[in-house]
Amino acid sequence: MQENRKDIFCLSAQEVSMFVNCPICQNELVPTATGVHCEHCHQDFKLEARCPDCQQPLEVLKACGAVDYFCRNGHGLISKKRVEFIPIGE
Ligand SMILES: [Zn+2]
Ligand SMILES: [Zn+2]
Repeated sequence: MQENRKDIFCLSAQEVSMFVNCPICQNELVPTATGVHCEHCHQDFKLEARCPDCQQPLEVLKACGAVDYFCRNGHGLISKKRVEFIPIGE
């Protein structure tokens, strides 16, 4: 499970930070080695990939470069564009 989480970050922390805002102050987040960081709140967040249809965490199927996100609740493969990345406080 640890490895799966790492894959999410190394693939998309950079891209994800462009459309995920701080859940506390709504400001833009800066990508870090482990997730994202808010410079305003001085908070670090981890990113969790969630299904856009059922809001459940997605299973990450492949390594960096070609990651697929899979919903175990019957929604199947979720395109990276549709995945909702949720910042989770440490
Ligand atoms: Zn903030
Ligand atoms: Zn789903």
